[in-house]
Amino acid sequence: MLTPYKTATAVIDLKALVYNYRTIKSLAPQSQILAVLKANAYGHGLELIAQALVSEEAKADAFGVARIEEALALRAAGIVAPIVLLEGFFSPEDLPILAVNNLHTVVHNQTQLNAINDAELDEPLTVWLKVDTGMHRLGVEPKLFNDFYQNLQLSNNVKNDIVIMSHLGCADDVSNNRTQVQYELFEQLISSLTPNEPVKRSLANSAAICAFANTHYDWVRPGLMLYGVNPLLPKSSTQPLDLKSVMTLYSSLIEIRNIKAGESVGYGASWVSEKDTTIGVVAIGYGDGYPRHASNGTPVLINNRKVPLVGRVSMDMITVDLGLDSKESIGDLVTLWGKGLPVSEIAEYSTTISYELLCNITRRVRIELTE
Ligand SMILES: *Cc1c(COP(=O)(O)O)cnc(C)c1O
Repeated sequence: MLTPYKTATAVIDLKALVYNYRTIKSLAPQSQILAVLKANAYGHGLELIAQALVSEEAKADAFGVARIEEALALRAAGIVAPIVLLEGFFSPEDLPILAVNNLHTVVHNQTQLNAINDAELDEPLTVWLKVDTGMHRLGVEPKLFNDFYQNLQLSNNVKNDIVIMSHLGCADDVSNNRTQVQYELFEQLISSLTPNEPVKRSLANSAAICAFANTHYDWVRPGLMLYGVNPLLPKSSTQPLDLKSVMTLYSSLIEIRNIKAGESVGYGASWVSEKDTTIGVVAIGYGDGYPRHASNGTPVLINNRKVPLVGRVSMDMITVDLGLDSKESIGDLVTLWGKGLPVSEIAEYSTTISYELLCNITRRVRIELTE
């Protein structure tokens, strides 16, 4: 039996995390896995998630983060696996820190290349060279790619095992042919490298791991699916994926009241009941990271049934329509997302994506482990 949680609590299931890691391994058996832990491991707790992924059951090959602070927090927590800064370094002063801490860096522009060439380092760096194959966010232009590669290869500050990477913009939509176009350009660029030597390659995020096996290459870079969330758009999710929710967000009912047809609930009186009903008040709100834009009808799970959110989301509370013959009591446990209620469903009702909901969990939310 679950303990009734009095306030917003994210329960983290590390067995589910390892399970998802194994699913990724079975989908991409030839690839090494760079587990993406940016933004506090998508809200799940950076150190907690990293430690579970270096355990005997998973043994992640490397980690990916977005900021040097995230990488150093992992080192402080005793993580010795390689860590890649997915957007590279932002200041030349970072370079000695990278060298000392064995942090690998993406290089995606001339400024970074110059800084590496100008640096005086005790140890050479491991570099992931990022090329823009069509997303047009980060990455060197295809026509400059070969020059960048050769320049890095000649640098005394760079180790000789450069990984070539690119990022896919539309892999969550299996019917979008941009993924194929990006893939073909990536292939062409790799084969154009002079000297023509075998380099390590990396292209796939979670969606591509699931839907585009040709993009797996030497390193896959799963983020979202590690946390048990289907990375494909609903229209692309034709087959169920073997993933388990890692985070389940709970709170509890703190008030139950009857209202009459025609009465409104919450700020702005924006929702008016069409019938006599029972309203439940749940102790969670946008101050905990529950999306303020969740619309009326967003499902909430109470005693194994889905009830609709009604009225505006407040900072500390939401209101739900329990119906006239409800059997709920104050203190009953409420699931906002996770086991039994996929976070992607809540994202759709809030016109956002699962990524944003997970990493927007605030400091007020208690993080606990499943027993
Ligand atoms: C965040 C990120 C990923 C992981 O993306 P998911 O969609 O969460 O799997 C992979 N690669 C790069 C470069 C990223 O920034």
